[in-house]
Amino acid sequence: MTYINTPTEEQNLNQTAKIINQAKKEGRKTLLENEAKTICIEYGIPVTTFNLAKSQKEAAAYAAKIGYPIVLKIVSPDIIHKSEAGGVIVNLKNSTDVVNAYKKIIESAKKYKADAKITGVLIQEMAPQSTEVIVGAIKDPQFGQTIMFGLGGIFVELLKDVNFRIAPITSEDAKEMIKQLKAYPLLNGYRNTPPADIDALVSILCNTSRLVMDNPEIKELDLNPIMAYPKGAKTVDARIILE
Ligand code: ADP
Ligand code: MG
Repeated sequence: MTYINTPTEEQNLNQTAKIINQAKKEGRKTLLENEAKTICIEYGIPVTTFNLAKSQKEAAAYAAKIGYPIVLKIVSPDIIHKSEAGGVIVNLKNSTDVVNAYKKIIESAKKYKADAKITGVLIQEMAPQSTEVIVGAIKDPQFGQTIMFGLGGIFVELLKDVNFRIAPITSEDAKEMIKQLKAYPLLNGYRNTPPADIDALVSILCNTSRLVMDNPEIKELDLNPIMAYPKGAKTVDARIILE
């Protein structure tokens, strides 16, 4: 499915509600990456182009349509941390690579968890490497939906250099969340790194706030990583957990 125009609010709610209801019906609390990214698209959050393949043949066809280099990822309700399960293979350059990676990912998933239900394999555009940022949301028992922003890797894990705001947030709040990071100079252009498109990040933060405010059944949301470019930004992995 391609989205050329920004969907209307009503279409947003319909599609998002449909995905959430389907997960509930299946007794799933974690949305699949393709589901989480479909919701992101509807809320104007940019993500890597993707298609869900159910066979090697489909995988090769989607890869050709999206364009190389390609990334393949396992889609399974039983596998949350995909790379841990050997479920992410990046930088595939042709259809032979894609078919081999497809086989390997299914094999690894079965090895990781013999009875894992496999929904398919996500074929996606490979986002060029850049400064990685993280946008999160968590439903705090006291304050409700709360939005988080930080830089990827050691900045979040080791240095805990992250900022939180209670949702809903304004674009002014979003700008503060970005500019008050200790690591902000890295986003503002540093040595060989060009400045990141701050407006694109502000827009992702505001849209994430709108997404979780509209959907109070979302307990946790994780856009990790987001590649921050000099022009625009792109979400590479998205996870949504329901209450
Ligand atoms: P998980 O967090 O479930 O292990 P991710 O989807 O985050 O899986 O993939 C692991 C890593 O692989 C990412 O952090 C990123 O570095 C890389 N990666 C995944 N998808 C892409 C993509 N479409 N383009 C570029 N790099 C990617
Ligand atoms: Mg990830």
